[in-house]
Amino acid sequence: MVKRSIGISWVEPPQKTCDDEDCPFHGTLSVRGVLLEGTLVKKKMNKTAVVLHEYLVYVPKYKRYERRRRKIHAHLPPCIDVKVGDRVIIGECRPIAKTVAFVVLGKRK
Ligand SMILES: [Zn+2]
Repeated sequence: MVKRSIGISWVEPPQKTCDDEDCPFHGTLSVRGVLLEGTLVKKKMNKTAVVLHEYLVYVPKYKRYERRRRKIHAHLPPCIDVKVGDRVIIGECRPIAKTVAFVVLGKRK
C-alpha cells in the first residue's frame, strides 16, 4: 500500500500500515472540514471509536463560558495505535456510516 499524505503536515502518519479502504493514510478517504481534539472513551465497535470532545461556549448574558461535551463516533483505521484514555485528533470526512463522519488521525503530542 502506498502511504498518502493527508495534507495536514503536523499530524504524524502511523508507523503501521493497513489495507482499510477508509483509511486517510492507506486508503482513499479524504479529510476535510474541521479538526477536533478529544479523549478516546470507547473502542468496542468494529473499526469505530467514541471520542469525547469538550469545548467552551461563551454566554454573553453572564459573560462567562459554559462547558459542553459531545460524544463523536469516529472511524478508527486498524493502523492507528491508540488506547482508551488517549487524547486524539479527529478529522471530519465524508459520512462512513449513519453516525460516523469523523476519522481518528492519531495521538495528540
Ligand atoms: Zn492505514
